[in-house]
Amino acid sequence: MSLGADHADERTRELADNLGRVHDRVRRACAAVGRDPAGLTVIVVTKFFPEADIRRLAGLGVRDLGENRDQEASTKYRTIRADLPPIRLHFIGQVQTNKAKSVATYADVVHTLDRPKLVTALDRAAQAAERRLRVLLQVDLDPDRDRGEDRPPRSGPASGRGGIEPRLIEDLVARVKASTQLDLGGVMAVAPLGGDPDRAFGRLAEVAARVRATASDATWISAGMSGDLEAAIRHGATHLRVGTAILGSRPPLR
Ligand SMILES: *Cc1c(COP(=O)(O)O)cnc(C)c1O
Repeated sequence: MSLGADHADERTRELADNLGRVHDRVRRACAAVGRDPAGLTVIVVTKFFPEADIRRLAGLGVRDLGENRDQEASTKYRTIRADLPPIRLHFIGQVQTNKAKSVATYADVVHTLDRPKLVTALDRAAQAAERRLRVLLQVDLDPDRDRGEDRPPRSGPASGRGGIEPRLIEDLVARVKASTQLDLGGVMAVAPLGGDPDRAFGRLAEVAARVRATASDATWISAGMSGDLEAAIRHGATHLRVGTAILGSRPPLR
């Protein structure tokens, strides 16, 4: 489907306006700290929104798209991907170990690698799918959270929260480096709810520097959403995950 500017429908115009506003925010935030906006990628998070919106976004030039649930991502993108220009699909939700196999068949980047078990599961799954996967290590920026190694994944709007404790990051880096199909891209985090995003993303920048000390190619920092992308840019984010500011509010949780 081609969407020339002339006969673009109302929803396409809305998406184009919203994309423009987000890119303006990115430019202003970059200017404020002397960063080049070319170093930032906006990943448009399409969870809860229909295939028609994905086609519109692709028509508007969006090439980086994000989803956070395996079932929704696999069904939505399986059918339309062949019609789209080449896109990069980012999986940004918690990955249950038994979903690794599915996620590895379609995701180009998995942002939420946060435990040793998942390194093994994704590596095997990527091998089976004969693909390489770029992975980011999700860092827990909440200093107060008590946590267990195999806690049940959360669901809902907070589902991106989770991650590995910063003190355990070097071990996870070593495991990814020892894998055969996983390429370590960098780190990812969600700022803790109600906390100061500048503090959180400052901590993430420190962890990112530790990761780069042993994996110099792991330069990605996936941080910043609709509400806190300026703070993320101040602290070196390279990839922003933006949903609401582009697509509008999501319907209440299913
Ligand atoms: C949904 C989601 C986003 C996008 O959040 P918005 O506030 O809608 O921009 C970003 N990151 C993760 C992990 C998400 O699950």
